[in-house]
Amino acid sequence: MPVTRDYYEILGVSRDVDEDTIKKSYRQLALKYHPDRNPGDKEAEESFKEAAEAYEVLRDREKRKIYDLYGHDGLRGTGFTGFGGFEDIFSTFGDIFEDFFGFGGRRSRKTRVTRGNDLRYNLELTLEEAYKGKEEEIVFDKWESCDICRGTGVTPGSELETCPDCHGEGEISRSHGFFQIRTTCSTCNGKGQIIVDPCRKCKGKGKIKVEKKVLVKIPPGVDTGIQLRIKGEGEAGENGGPPGDLFVVVYVKDHEFFMRDGDDLKCQVTISFLQAALGAEISIPVLNNNKKTSITIPEGIQPGEIIRLKGWGMTSLRRRRGDGDLFVQVIVNIPAKLSKRQRELLMEFSALDEKKNKAKDKNFWGKIKGI
Ligand SMILES: [Zn+2]
Ligand SMILES: [Zn+2]
Repeated sequence: MPVTRDYYEILGVSRDVDEDTIKKSYRQLALKYHPDRNPGDKEAEESFKEAAEAYEVLRDREKRKIYDLYGHDGLRGTGFTGFGGFEDIFSTFGDIFEDFFGFGGRRSRKTRVTRGNDLRYNLELTLEEAYKGKEEEIVFDKWESCDICRGTGVTPGSELETCPDCHGEGEISRSHGFFQIRTTCSTCNGKGQIIVDPCRKCKGKGKIKVEKKVLVKIPPGVDTGIQLRIKGEGEAGENGGPPGDLFVVVYVKDHEFFMRDGDDLKCQVTISFLQAALGAEISIPVLNNNKKTSITIPEGIQPGEIIRLKGWGMTSLRRRRGDGDLFVQVIVNIPAKLSKRQRELLMEFSALDEKKNKAKDKNFWGKIKGI
């Protein structure tokens, strides 16, 4: 069940506190509701999960920002689903618990179940692709659990042996003056057992590198920085732990004609000074299937004026207020060279214009005199 209570309320902090305060507050709650202290207590279990999710979000600057702006819905939009259960929490926060309590999570080293690593894949899209959405098959290398030994690294049928160096402890203690220092056994990597007959396919690693193809559905309207989370497509976990997730991070390339501003698009079109004075129908590129649309330039438009085309912007990912708008800024081109005939006509135009202006001036001065 996804958490619906306010994360700040869960941790009992105000919205503007720093990361340290958040960590301290979470530490207290985690200690209070830790399953080892509250065996079988369903309510404590829920509180423990709730606090973990709140902390997972608020300790991460990016997630916190999204939560502050868009709340729980905003986070779900990025694919955030909270935690499945204790195992998930302990594998994510293992190192934090170690520093909180002086021991790692609940599991001893030997049987420590770890979730696989998340993978990140950067996907470049053109603006057109971001507009329409896309199905893309992405190809990448990842470690998967070996199918011959089922991730154990041991040839099926053969046994593991107790590590001769640490005698199954996974740790070795050494005296250092007054102190006893315990370090992870390097022979067995802390597992306490060693493989005598390693699996031939994975050479005892328990994992094999495979080329993986995943079909990713990119929804219309994505923008740079949006992450799509594909659950379970990350790397294999250890000792039967769940796999990590694959994060596809979107990067939308610049476009030669359009500039994007959220859901809106901006562009510039150049028209002649005659089109500006007389008005015109011109054709401009757009991102939807028509590729082009015609727009009306009203007569007497001024250089730099902006025409707004409602709904001709980007598709909106969140579909809250429909699609974005397109803002077309008009650039007016003044001819640098004129033919003789053109010059004559313009001179004529200029003479007319002068007369008109003189008339206007007269009017103006006449009025002043009248006052
Ligand atoms: Zn050992
Ligand atoms: Zn194997």
